[in-house]
Amino acid sequence: MREPRLSEKAWVVAIEEAILDAWRTDPDLYRFAPEPGQPVFVIDTPPPYPSGSWHIGAVMAYSMIDMIARAQRMLGRAVLFPFGLDRNGINIERTVERKTGKPLHEWDREAFIDACRREIEAIGQGLLDLAVRVGVSADLEHTYLTDSDEYRAFSQAIFLELWPRGLFYRGERPNFWCPVCETPLAEADIVYEERASKLVWMRFPLAHGGQILIASTRPELLAACRAIIVHPDDERFRRLQGVKARVPLYGNEVPIVPHPAARPEFGSGAAMICSYGDMVDIQLFRELRLEPVKAIDERGRMTSAAERYRGLPVEEARTRAIADLESDGALERVEPIQHRAPLCHRSGTPIEFLSSEAWYLRQLEFREDLKGLAARMDFHPPRHRQLLFDWIDGLTIDWPISRRRYYHTEIPLWYCKACKEVLAPPPGKYYRPWKDPAPFDRCPTCGGREFVGEDRVFDTWMDSSVSNLFVTGYRRDMRFFEANFPTSLRPQGKDIVRTWLYYTILKSYLVRASPPFRRVFIHGLGLDARGRAMHRTLGNIIEPWPLIKKYGADAVRFFAASETNPGDDFRISEAKIGGAGKFLTKLWNVARFISSFEEPPAGKLHPTDEWILAELNRLIEACRGAYDESNLFLPATRCRDFLWNVFAPHYVEMVKGRAYEGDAGATWALHACLRDLLRLLAPIVPCSTDKIWRSVYGGSVHRERFPAPRDGIPASRLEATEALVAFNSDVWKQKRDRGLSLKVELPGVTVPEALRPFEGDLRRMHHLV
Ligand SMILES: [Zn+2]
Ligand SMILES: [Zn+2]
Repeated sequence: MREPRLSEKAWVVAIEEAILDAWRTDPDLYRFAPEPGQPVFVIDTPPPYPSGSWHIGAVMAYSMIDMIARAQRMLGRAVLFPFGLDRNGINIERTVERKTGKPLHEWDREAFIDACRREIEAIGQGLLDLAVRVGVSADLEHTYLTDSDEYRAFSQAIFLELWPRGLFYRGERPNFWCPVCETPLAEADIVYEERASKLVWMRFPLAHGGQILIASTRPELLAACRAIIVHPDDERFRRLQGVKARVPLYGNEVPIVPHPAARPEFGSGAAMICSYGDMVDIQLFRELRLEPVKAIDERGRMTSAAERYRGLPVEEARTRAIADLESDGALERVEPIQHRAPLCHRSGTPIEFLSSEAWYLRQLEFREDLKGLAARMDFHPPRHRQLLFDWIDGLTIDWPISRRRYYHTEIPLWYCKACKEVLAPPPGKYYRPWKDPAPFDRCPTCGGREFVGEDRVFDTWMDSSVSNLFVTGYRRDMRFFEANFPTSLRPQGKDIVRTWLYYTILKSYLVRASPPFRRVFIHGLGLDARGRAMHRTLGNIIEPWPLIKKYGADAVRFFAASETNPGDDFRISEAKIGGAGKFLTKLWNVARFISSFEEPPAGKLHPTDEWILAELNRLIEACRGAYDESNLFLPATRCRDFLWNVFAPHYVEMVKGRAYEGDAGATWALHACLRDLLRLLAPIVPCSTDKIWRSVYGGSVHRERFPAPRDGIPASRLEATEALVAFNSDVWKQKRDRGLSLKVELPGVTVPEALRPFEGDLRRMHHLV
């Protein structure tokens, strides 16, 4: 016995701060520096979008990614663990618009970009501070920014590489449009939400007398109504097919057309076709060759085509139209209805369908190939591959990649003023066509000398979908790239399978005709304790900083790893994080006890020592296998089980007597268990394990490799576990039942035959006589 090497009596949060300082002053600890022949593991870390404070679910997700990185290092790989901030996009623009009360299109472009840059700087720093505090071992010193000239040039370079292959085209077509963000949207930008709405029943007079009833949620679109459809088999309307009806409020006549898109069970069974209320309208205008009318403009206001409603926002025009229908005697009734409304993912506002010109990237024709690539990547958990397949199967339009915004990567194109030819510069530089001089002397088609720069920008997914190419050194270090593409790992949430994962696969397919990743790790989402997503409006947001200050990063991390199976959503509860803290205290106390014994050279092992080492071997094997599969749940829960239910209550109690006497078998096995348990837990609880390791063994546990199972330990000792646990529990129970202290002698207990080899330790432990 000596003074415990682990001098602090109890585990406290302040220990973490000291360990983080130790890491800060040791920049080589996590540095990516592969030795010759060492396998490399590259992680395409999700570059988070800085917007306000970091969500606790995100903090846990990045902790899990960090655990995978640390585990890969301990498996002997050189881990490239980059970190980026995805700073382009509408979020920061909307923040600036909100703070200044001035919408983007009223700003000078340059001034708006400056304002966005100032705004995002502070937010980004807060996020990095949090990443450091929770122990993320990524290369935070070289954080890349997607709004840097270098990254934007890279994103443009990929576009320009693909440009000559005719993969991009311009099209004027009706598309999803957000009137708040004032930009076209891709299918991936749309979310659906059940909303309360009004179903308005209107009377359309017929040309030959009588009327037809139409129920619609969009009476403000009457100005754009160009047809009525009824189902061909719907007997109620058979005699009306081909008849004309007069549109209320406007008086123009429209045909009643039989079409299978009509739903006899909805409303009256007859539907008005307007430009544009939904995707069916778009399809029918095309199919029936109807002349579209633009009744709503880019900012969500009624146009002059809507006559008396001109200039009104859509909702207000709807209310007024209902009142006018009533005073005209054209209103039958209004019913409340639940309606699955398409909303803009960013602004949460209802989207419109507007015709606008946009740049598109072809994707529909590659769907089968993309599914083929997805099938070749290793998914963890495998079931989440289906999320991707379903998304690919559901795509209906090519990807609109242009946006009418400012704080984004510019589309690097110019147009010849004379012949309108589209000109693309060579890849490599960062181009800002809205302000830079054109990098051309003459138009190759007409010899013209005047050019107009494209003023539109990329959808931000155009930038983030090349992150894997960027971190793997594409175009910068082709030797490294060739050796490390496909990238080892893409970790990400299941909520961005349809965007980040899908678009990355598309881009990598176009650039390399290859799957982008060997493995895709898809984690679940952090919900509140009742299983609801966290929203400001629900008041159920859990702020990360107070939790970390109270319980420490390791408790938050241990909770994240042990709470759910890989890929499942996890319910975040403060009580459970507190429970994880108790586990750390247990680890600390056991380690402190063991640290009071010298670690001897291997001594003669007693059967009890062989038994715990056999259990340890089994634990090591299971954890190594799981870590290699990016499974964190198994090591967390198995290590906890080993420490809490086997090692501490049974083994440590059984050998205490021998250890106090200086028996080398016992003290050697105690240290073997502690060393290995610390190493197996190091990826999950990096602060506590490192503090203990440094105090007891010296050096950092994060320079260690995972332990391997020990040779020469008979696996047959495992057969005793159940009987040992049962015997000890039984003796404890007998003493408890008789109101005896555990230290009191207990006569008349026989040790069962199967436990004979452990009899000495057992008799001593329980004071059996
Ligand atoms: Zn929007
Ligand atoms: Zn020209």
